[in-house]
Amino acid sequence: MNVEETRLRTFTDWPVNAAVDAARIAKAGFYYTGHALEVQCFLCGVKISDWNYGDQAIARHRLAEPTCPFVQNPSSTCNVHLIPINNFGLASSSSTETSQDNNIVECQSTNPCQNKEPQKEYRTVSQRLQSFINWPISSIVSPEKLAKAGFYYLQQDDEVQCTYCGGVLKKWELGDDPEKKHKDTFPDCDFYLHQDGINKQKNSLYLTNVKLMPGATSNLSDLGIQIHTTPKKPQCATYEGRLSTFRGWPANIRQTPEILA
Ligand SMILES: [Zn+2]
Ligand SMILES: [Zn+2]
Repeated sequence: MNVEETRLRTFTDWPVNAAVDAARIAKAGFYYTGHALEVQCFLCGVKISDWNYGDQAIARHRLAEPTCPFVQNPSSTCNVHLIPINNFGLASSSSTETSQDNNIVECQSTNPCQNKEPQKEYRTVSQRLQSFINWPISSIVSPEKLAKAGFYYLQQDDEVQCTYCGGVLKKWELGDDPEKKHKDTFPDCDFYLHQDGINKQKNSLYLTNVKLMPGATSNLSDLGIQIHTTPKKPQCATYEGRLSTFRGWPANIRQTPEILA
């Protein structure tokens, strides 16, 4: 019943002459119990059965149960908004009862109806990156780092959630490393077990393909690999050895073998 469309479908026998429109009641978190005008909140369970003309469904909800999370902050619940479709008569696209920008609101780990499956929409870095619209603290922690560390933005303060373990992190400070914080806080997260495996595989594949080719030195030094070059003529590695090659060096040349060697 956290899905608005499902709630709306319970109103098939809702009296057509009822004072308040079914679409607005469903949008305010209620489903129809089937008795007279009685509806119930999917989250707090509060029931309302007396509806009057001009009633604001969400206002009635707030009045009946002020502590209901749906009333206090719908985006923090697992409610799934109905995406208004113009030809679908029941859906009201002109509703101003909620200020939600998003049609779909993700579940947080603290919700009783949390979905334990990884969030399919945020499986890739670029998908997660797209969630960081309006990220308020780019100068403190960059969306790129957070997305790479498995997080997407919950569109609330600086709260981010891991796609895989569902762990929520917030209150970011300058110098925080999302990857480290993720590993430290949620050490059992599948994301890192998975990533570590990939990295190990990549490294071993890469190293088996390394060949000491001429011109490849800059790449290798980038990798921290030092090329050890052995003398082409080992017998010339010492001063005495090199000096001995100057036998027959013309005596009238200014550069003496001692200088050159
Ligand atoms: Zn409620
Ligand atoms: Zn995680």
